[in-house]
Amino acid sequence: MNQAFDIAIVGAGIVGAQVAYQAHQRHPDWRVLLIDRSLVGGGVSHYSGGLDHPFGWSPEQKILASESLELYTRLKRDIPEAPFFDLPLYGITRAENSALMLSRFTKPGAHRADADELRRLTDTYTDLEIGDDRIAITGCRGGYGDPGGVCNAIVRRLRQNERIRVVEGTKVESIRSEDEDHLLSAADGREFRSRRLVIATGPWMLDGPGMEAMRAHDVRIKKIVAMHIEMTPTLESPILFFLDDDSYLLPVVHRGHWIFSFPSTHWDCIPTIDALTIAPDDRERARGILAKYSSKLVDMCTNGRVFCDAYTQSRLPVIAPLPGMQRASVAGACSGFGFRLAPAIARRALDLACAADA
Ligand SMILES: Cc1cc2nc3c(=O)[nH]c(=O)nc-3n(C[C@H](O)[C@H](O)[C@H](O)COP(=O)(O)OP(=O)(O)OC[C@H]3O[C@@H](n4cnc5c(N)ncnc54)[C@H](O)[C@@H]3O)c2cc1C
Repeated sequence: MNQAFDIAIVGAGIVGAQVAYQAHQRHPDWRVLLIDRSLVGGGVSHYSGGLDHPFGWSPEQKILASESLELYTRLKRDIPEAPFFDLPLYGITRAENSALMLSRFTKPGAHRADADELRRLTDTYTDLEIGDDRIAITGCRGGYGDPGGVCNAIVRRLRQNERIRVVEGTKVESIRSEDEDHLLSAADGREFRSRRLVIATGPWMLDGPGMEAMRAHDVRIKKIVAMHIEMTPTLESPILFFLDDDSYLLPVVHRGHWIFSFPSTHWDCIPTIDALTIAPDDRERARGILAKYSSKLVDMCTNGRVFCDAYTQSRLPVIAPLPGMQRASVAGACSGFGFRLAPAIARRALDLACAADA
C-alpha cells in the first residue's frame, strides 16, 4: 500500500465526481482518490435526463438548487467543454396554484406568459392544451447537462493532475478505521488508505459501505422512467414542465429527441438494468399525463429509458457523517434530483468530511 490519500471518494457518478473536483479546488496540494466499481458516470448518472431548472419543491430544496446554480455557473466557466445546454423554460399549472409555483422559482423573472410568449411555446408544442383553468409560466431559462458527459469532462480535467488518482473497475467492498486513517478494501484484494472519506455510491449504498446511514433515513429505491419522443429539437425548443403532475418534456438536443419524465410508482427495485424494464403500466401512466396536454405527443410516446434512484420520503438528499468514523461522510438518496443538486450535495459532503480539520 502506498502513501495515504488526503481524501478518497467512493463512487464517480455526478455527486462523487463533484466532490473530487471541489476537494481539488479547495486543496490543490491534496492527493485525491476517486474510485468506482464501473466507469466514471456509468451508474444512475448514465441514464439521467440531466434537467436543471431554477426551482425548489420545498424551502430546503430551493436552497440546494440556488447553491447548485451558482456552483454550476462556475463549473461551466472553468470547464467550458462540459456538455451543458441552455434552453427556454415554461411551466404549466392550475391557476389556483400559480402563486405557490411562482414562489418556488429560485431566479427572478418568473411570470405568467403573455400572448407572444405563449405563441413561442405553441410554435413548438403545436396542439398544446392549456385550458381555461391553467396558466403558463415563463421568464427564466433552464437547461440540461449530459450527466455522463459532465462527469467525464470533470474527471478528464482531474486526471491531468498527478496528485489525483482515478481508479475504475474497482469495487470497494468494506471500509475500516486504522490509526487516524480509513482503509478501503477492494474486491480485487487491493487496499487504499485515506485520511478523509466520502461515500457517493448512489442506489448501491443501501447494500454496501454507508448502508447504516441510508437505512437510518428510511431510504428506498424507486424506479425512474423517462419516455423518448422522436421529434428533433433545437436550442430554441422550450423545456415544458407540467408542475401539477411533477412531469416535464425536455428537448435533448445533443441526442436529437425529447424525453418525457414522469413519476413512477414502482418501489424497492434492485439497481441493475436486468431487473428494470418499462412496464405496460409505466407507459400508460406516461400517456395518461401527456393526454391532458397534447394528444399528438401521446402517440409518439412508446419507448424510453429506465433505471432507478435512492429516495427519501422528503425527497431531500442524505448528507450525513458516516456512523462510527471520523472525517467521513455519505452523500446520496438524491431522490430523482441528483443532477441539478449535485454541486450543493458535494459541497456539504466535503464540508462534513473536513469538519475535524477546522
Ligand atoms: C431515467 C432517469 C432520469 C433522471 N432525470 C433526472 C433529471 O432530469 N434531473 C436530475 O437532477 N436528476 C435526474 N435523475 C436522477 C439523477 O440521475 C440521480 O439522482 C443522480 O445521477 C445520482 O447520482 P449519484 O452520483 O448519487 O449516483 P450514481 O451516478 O449512480 O453514481 C454512483 C457510482 O458509485 C459506483 N459504485 C457503487 N457501489 C460502489 C462500490 N462498492 N465501490 C465503488 N464504486 C461503487 C457506481 O458504479 C456509480 O458509478 C434521473 C434518473 C434517472 C434514472
